[in-house]
Amino acid sequence: MRVRFAPSPTGYLHVGVARAALFNWLLARQQGGVFVLRVEDTDHARSTEAHTEAILHGLSWLGLDWDEGPIFQSDGLAGHQAAALRLLAEGKAYRDFTTTDLLKQEAARRGLESVRRLPRELSTELDPAEVERRVAAGESFAIRFRVPEGETAWDDLLHGELSFANADIEDLVLLRSDGSPTYNLAAVSDDADERITHVIRGDDHISNTPKQILLYRALGHAVPRFGHLPMILGPDGGRLSKRHGATAVQEYEDQGILPEALFNFLALLGWNPGDDREVMSKDEIVAEFSLERVQKKSAVFDNKKLSWMNGQHLARVDSHDLVSLVIARFDARGVASDRWRGREGWLVRLVDLLKVRARNLDDLAAMAEPYLSGPVDYEADSVAKHWAKEPATVAERIAELRGRLDDTPWERGALNEVTRSVAEALEIPAGKLIHPVRVAVTGRQHSPGIFDVLEMLGKERTLARLDRALRHLHTMK
Ligand code: GLU
Repeated sequence: MRVRFAPSPTGYLHVGVARAALFNWLLARQQGGVFVLRVEDTDHARSTEAHTEAILHGLSWLGLDWDEGPIFQSDGLAGHQAAALRLLAEGKAYRDFTTTDLLKQEAARRGLESVRRLPRELSTELDPAEVERRVAAGESFAIRFRVPEGETAWDDLLHGELSFANADIEDLVLLRSDGSPTYNLAAVSDDADERITHVIRGDDHISNTPKQILLYRALGHAVPRFGHLPMILGPDGGRLSKRHGATAVQEYEDQGILPEALFNFLALLGWNPGDDREVMSKDEIVAEFSLERVQKKSAVFDNKKLSWMNGQHLARVDSHDLVSLVIARFDARGVASDRWRGREGWLVRLVDLLKVRARNLDDLAAMAEPYLSGPVDYEADSVAKHWAKEPATVAERIAELRGRLDDTPWERGALNEVTRSVAEALEIPAGKLIHPVRVAVTGRQHSPGIFDVLEMLGKERTLARLDRALRHLHTMK
């Protein structure tokens, strides 16, 4: 099995296109096949190196490594031209001298705004002497494929038998008058060169497939199997586009989505493992993927589900691997590096505590901030809820606990015990002490278990934070 991913570097890596890459990659990995990467850069006006780089980066980030390539389609120009000239020599293609002027005349004759080509009888049946005369006179021409009569059918890997009447297929241009190849010629010529056995791509290419099959046959190449993947829709049923939110793989990376989560999510866009499993590792998906279980109807891209799935993956990833990602987020958030540098080991423990509540890496970085050194910002909501109603009483309670902490061994069991005994002595439920303390040491009303938090912060920092909170509470009276 030799499959390929053939992006055009005329834009960023769209998630729908990335899904096509993923399905090809999965097939190759599962069947011990070869995954070829071909950059279809023949549209010089719109292709850029920056787009190529972004696409390669997106694939690597997702973990879709390629075995051959990147092959740049523009390097194959001579081969594409040779294929067209061969078809011309064999009478399977013809020169089309249609000029823009002629097209305008034809449009006027038919009362249309514009026509893309002349009727066959006007463009194809030039007698050979006339063709020769025009070529000799230096007139420019395109080379068109002469679509034979009949019907073109194939057994689609997803849709089953599909067939098109050749009468409905226009005589497609192979080489434009400037000598540049069209997509269909270049794709067939390259797929044949690269000995591609399975062409898996989006449904939007179905109408190209009969043309390509005719070209394979005319050129005498073996026709590969074709499979067309359903489109991806936004939640409102429209084709997935910017108005639904992010569509570039890069945007998800920037949002703090993990590559394994996007991988998992894209795999489930149209495919399922046959049971209700949703959170799956890369290896599991490789082992279980099959085209038979790819549905034929469009798949809906649900951002909420992606966010949930990312949370699930965050909780599963080894915290050691998350730390450098979180540090990168700190840098982006402008959290001074001296607040974490040299404490990576400590950050692993912190990330371990926090990751189960985070939906993405930004969340995780934001949650980690209060635990770094530096003053705590007291969140207004949290203050209103746990301090503001009775600041004097809250201060007394915290002070009571503070007084006992100097001699408490700094470990969560002991911290738990002393906190409960203080609450008991004050004849209040432990929560009446724990919540205000949480605001004092983290500035927030939600955190991992408070005794884990105190242990993490360490004695010195906890005491300093309690003292600062006490001073603050006194100003609130
Ligand atoms: N460059 C084409 C695209 O991006 C490739 C289509 C194909 O896979 O043949 O749509």
